Amino acid sequence: MPGSLHLGRIAGIDIYIHFSWLIIFVFLTWSLATGWFPQLYPGWSTATYWLVSAVAALLLFVSVLLHELAHSFVARARGLPVKNITLFIFGGVSNIQQEPASPGVEFQMAVVGPVVSLLIGFVAYLLMLPLRGSNSPLQGILFYLAVTNILLGIFNLIPGFPLDGGRVLRSIVWKASGSLRVATRVATIVGQIIAYLFILLGIWLFFGGNVLNGIWIGFIGWFLLSSAQSANSQVMLESMFRGVTVGEVMNTKPTTVPANISLQRLVDEYFLPYGLRSALVMQADQLAGLITLSDIRHVPREQWGQVPVGHAMVPLDRLHVVQPQQSLNEVLPLMAGRDVNQLPVVQNGVLVGVLSRDAIVRFLEVRRGLGLQTAEGYVGKRLSDAAQLTTGQELHQFHRCHCDAIGTPHL
Ligand SMILES: [Zn+2]
Repeated sequence: MPGSLHLGRIAGIDIYIHFSWLIIFVFLTWSLATGWFPQLYPGWSTATYWLVSAVAALLLFVSVLLHELAHSFVARARGLPVKNITLFIFGGVSNIQQEPASPGVEFQMAVVGPVVSLLIGFVAYLLMLPLRGSNSPLQGILFYLAVTNILLGIFNLIPGFPLDGGRVLRSIVWKASGSLRVATRVATIVGQIIAYLFILLGIWLFFGGNVLNGIWIGFIGWFLLSSAQSANSQVMLESMFRGVTVGEVMNTKPTTVPANISLQRLVDEYFLPYGLRSALVMQADQLAGLITLSDIRHVPREQWGQVPVGHAMVPLDRLHVVQPQQSLNEVLPLMAGRDVNQLPVVQNGVLVGVLSRDAIVRFLEVRRGLGLQTAEGYVGKRLSDAAQLTTGQELHQFHRCHCDAIGTPHL
């Protein structure tokens, strides 16, 4: 997530805090210090209320971190690399770089988070028992941790994707149907229904006078809705491209230009007449690099007559090259992650084609034209997703992460 601060590393996993977390930390501390603690524990000093509230808010986020670490440790133990954990306004996110290979792994990874939260809540409750009636700050903090962690565990078990409960649901449907695509569809539809219910509840609370809770619940619903939608479109795209190789989609006759001509000639004889945005650069029948409109723009116009293409291009060693037999799903993240529009396709050191975003979108259009879409109406609706593979990176992150939301931060 951009705008995140690196906190440190736990067992090789980078921990980040998004700046939005600071907003919720301040807000939570304020609402605890002015509402929750004075109501339940009258008679403390103002300074005590604020100090205890700040400690309780911090410990709640430590609890969320432990919940995320549980997801991440199980993922890593099952061979899935964990990129990082980020705490943000709605809770926490574990960025896991691969999808689980089986419903069993998905189930374990998902369920361990809420289990840890419920466990923390239970332990906090047991520790609080001997202090009951003492009206002490320690008892206040333990009681708050017990309540919030149990709520956190229960809330995240709601069966709507991307919440943990939605992943549990997905693993069950996956096991029953044998299809990850069907399972994701079911879990994300339930997720969207739950998200809409949250939004409606938020609106109802808002107009019923419970303004802050209404806004919070509404935003949680909006967050769940966008996560569920992007997870769904990501899995749909992946399932549509499953078994499709680069060789089937690539353009086998890409426009190539010689490296020794000037930029002026490149523009006059290739880019303008053919409406090109990029071309592969050849030097004596060997692929030497790639030249795009933006590479040309980086050279001052008055120098276009003198600068050869070979000097302005991105050289081969800085290009990502793919092979025709690679699957499309394997290379799409390369395009999304690097924000590139085309990848040269090379076999045995010889250029055999180029894979472009345009070609991928055309491939989808032809499939739609032939009625070959994998899910009804899907290709038409999601064409824009394929066209904007730049944002595909975000889709990937949403899809692969465990997103955890804090139900109600200010009870
Ligand atoms: Zn979780």
